[in-house]
Amino acid sequence: EREDLPEVATPQALRPLLPKRPLTAHKGSVGRVGVLGGYRGDGLRYAGAPLLAALGAYRMGAGLVHLVLPEGTPLEPLEAVFHPVPAPALPPVKVEALAVGMGGGPWGKAWALEALKAGLPTVLDADALHLEVVALYRQAGVKAVLTPHAGEAGRLLGAPPEAVAQDPLAAARALAETTGLTVVLKGNPTVVAEGGRLSVNPTGNPVLATGGTGDVLAGAIAALLAAGLPPFDAARLAVYLHGLAGDLLAEERGVGLLAREVAEALPRARRALE
Ligand code: AMP
Ligand code: MG
Repeated sequence: EREDLPEVATPQALRPLLPKRPLTAHKGSVGRVGVLGGYRGDGLRYAGAPLLAALGAYRMGAGLVHLVLPEGTPLEPLEAVFHPVPAPALPPVKVEALAVGMGGGPWGKAWALEALKAGLPTVLDADALHLEVVALYRQAGVKAVLTPHAGEAGRLLGAPPEAVAQDPLAAARALAETTGLTVVLKGNPTVVAEGGRLSVNPTGNPVLATGGTGDVLAGAIAALLAAGLPPFDAARLAVYLHGLAGDLLAEERGVGLLAREVAEALPRARRALE
């Protein structure tokens, strides 16, 4: 049986996918994102992850971000609308896409099950990545993008992370096949897989190997889903721009960047692609 050949994402192929910003755009028309994550039981430990996803969504052009977080999460003033909840729940927010699971710890599964009730295109990241959860999304016919790194992908595939990292194309393809969903296998290179399609990302560098960059990516993908892009396109475009943001920063400053700076550089990466 013939496997489709992987494509390398090119600026030429991705440029036309960039969501247009019409003159009449308003914050309710360009894509609203809900971020669900965090875990109450550990104080400050994971508090930053959902905030970084919110930044990633805004920096990728979201009009409005709703942040659903455990009560008591220390907040910094942010453009997002905050919804503190005592336990994983989906408040009535008007959004077109969700990013779920970052910083979720033991709440990760419950966040994902709550999010599923909305039936919206969803990015499942970090602690939301469980086979049972993923199977329910598939059954419900909900569009979902999974964003594992090698360790998380290995957990889903029942394989050691080293095996995943050694052949990321095969691992991404296998995970897309078993889950029936869109897979972003993060690493070097990052590979996007859906059905028989495979897209290898050419941007990004080891300066991105720092806490929180994956959370920024999850939010960025959700912003493009909210803008109406199909999952495969939202995933490969966000991955490309996130990597390009990292490349711009690596050239300017080198090692030692912060994940929030990757979010900050997304608009410049987008302009460079335009
Ligand atoms: P996470 O592991 O969830 O924090 O995500 C890390 C992010 O940084 C992903 O987007 C990775 O693709 C990216 N990243 C980490 N290490 C590298 C590397 N060595 N080369 C390129 N990208 C990387
Ligand atoms: Mg992560």
